[in-house]
Amino acid sequence: MSTSKPCAVVTGASSGIGAETARQLAWQGYQVYLGARRLERLQALAAEIQGVALPLDVTDTESVRQFVEQLPEAVDVLVNNAGGALGLEAIADMEESHWQRMWDSNVLGLARMSKALYPRLLKAASGTGHLINIGSIAAHETYAGGGGYTACKHAVKAITETLRVEWLGQPIRISEIDPGLVETEFSLVRFAGDAERAANVYAGMEPLVAADIAEAIVWVVSRPAHVNIDEIIIKPRDQARAGLVHRR
Ligand code: NAP
Repeated sequence: MSTSKPCAVVTGASSGIGAETARQLAWQGYQVYLGARRLERLQALAAEIQGVALPLDVTDTESVRQFVEQLPEAVDVLVNNAGGALGLEAIADMEESHWQRMWDSNVLGLARMSKALYPRLLKAASGTGHLINIGSIAAHETYAGGGGYTACKHAVKAITETLRVEWLGQPIRISEIDPGLVETEFSLVRFAGDAERAANVYAGMEPLVAADIAEAIVWVVSRPAHVNIDEIIIKPRDQARAGLVHRR
């Protein structure tokens, strides 16, 4: 598709933070390319924001290749958002398949997408590309039962910082947004569809909503080109640490 609008790519745009980020970037005038595995959901959102829905599984190198092939040669913004947590078991009870799948999406998936989009970010029509990784407070803290997920998000932080060193001197900004509790499908996925267990995560407290994170992303990308917002940690007022929440 040829367009004079700046181009943004959002992974994991079928739900939660990614969907709201795609929506808000479209409101800012971006042509948004939405990637995720659930294509019908992407298509509904793409119709709403005149975006482009493309199937994407970030854990599959061939899927990433096919996705990227359909993007314009110049990409202004890449939001590496696809990912999430699986399970809450202690390391002594580690479910290896959870760890493998989390690593493949949150870490390798993010690195695959960054590698694949690098040449396109270098050609950003605005003159400055922008890579935004969605980390978590789990990139800064650990908590019992969160070993697999916190290891992944600590790795995301390491990748963000490595890219900032490796791409120094190139016209690409690199930012990381690290949310605390945001009410999305995150906990439903983590607890394999157990809606009651997922709802308990947010019981009696006021979590963030996806729009709170999307607004921060819009602010980060709309700074002047010479300004790089390295990292933002955003938590609900009711959360002091990953495992310390005030409930009424
Ligand atoms: P969500 O509602 O479950 O959304 C996750 C998104 O990731 C979905 O669109 C899902 O789409 C996509 N995804 C998962 N695996 C994928 C894969 N292999 N390939 C492509 N897309 C994939 O959860 P969310 O809260 O918005 O999470 C978004 C990001 O924020 C994640 O990286 C998460 O770790 C991070 N985060 C969330 C919170 C929170 O409290 N919610 C806090 C800190 C950080 P499909 O299933 O359709 O592929």
